[in-house]
Amino acid sequence: MRSIHRKIRHWYTRYGRTDLPWRNTADPYAIWLSEVMLQQTQVKTVLERYYFPFLEKFPTLEALGNAPLDEVLKMWEGLGYYNRAKNLHKTAQILTQAQGAAPALPSKIEELIKLPGIGKNTANAVAAFAFRQPVPVMEANVRRILCRIHAMKDADEKALWQIACEMVDRQNPFEYNQAMMDIGATLCTSKTPRCEACPFESICQGKSDPERYPRKKRRTVPTKEQYIMINLYNNKLALSQRQGKFLHGLWGFDAIEVPLCAAEEVGEVTHTYTHFKLRCKVYLYDELEPTHDHYFTPEQIRQLAISKVDEKILNLYLDTMK
Ligand code: SF4
Repeated sequence: MRSIHRKIRHWYTRYGRTDLPWRNTADPYAIWLSEVMLQQTQVKTVLERYYFPFLEKFPTLEALGNAPLDEVLKMWEGLGYYNRAKNLHKTAQILTQAQGAAPALPSKIEELIKLPGIGKNTANAVAAFAFRQPVPVMEANVRRILCRIHAMKDADEKALWQIACEMVDRQNPFEYNQAMMDIGATLCTSKTPRCEACPFESICQGKSDPERYPRKKRRTVPTKEQYIMINLYNNKLALSQRQGKFLHGLWGFDAIEVPLCAAEEVGEVTHTYTHFKLRCKVYLYDELEPTHDHYFTPEQIRQLAISKVDEKILNLYLDTMK
């Protein structure tokens, strides 16, 4: 692997995305934040809209740990998968409470992995990128490269981790892992990979027909239907803070079993999550007496942490009022 490692380093220096801000900081907190944001979101979105504002608002682990959850969720608004934000906050709280002033993330994988929201890959990424430990990272792009190099149609996690550990450049884990992610994003893409430019070309067993690896899984996404009631009182809209597991902590309109006969149907919004599609029929009910604890103007709602689907419902309401 020595000559392959050399080629990868060379490729990374020439073509890697070396200017990404989280690759140019030694701050484990900022690196961890980028890893969590990038789990389900594209680099462009994180870079343009979320990473810097979040760090500006919560510049340290301590600042995050001492912040109210509402403020954290507000900074996360639109990124989706809000458990990520809640776990970031919870971990920051745990470390702040345990360590006091200037808390820090642990450097050991065994300790990182015990913290809320930090799985094996995130722990390895923080260890490799923040603490330069000789461990591999594993994300979708890396999985695809490994499967293709070894011509594996199906690979279980255990086998992939074993291969990844054997292949990692122990002298330069930072550059190697960053390069793996960049090669997966720019060369070894799902469709029409550019094998001729790839540093793995000489050892890749899948290069003659790369799109066969790994085998694509067909996924059907179920649709859930929901009735949403916008309760209106004095030109203000009722919102409640969600308590259940789904979208916990965010403000939202009420989901109801059956719409009231007196309610007016205003339309429909849909939103696709990873595991299901949500179709909401939206109703409006003008109340004579307030029935909720909290009512807001649309402008006030824009200041709250709300989910994408509630934002769509608000926009639908505003459209119908025009
Ligand atoms: S040679 Fe082609 S298939 Fe193999 S890892 Fe490189 S880009 Fe992917």
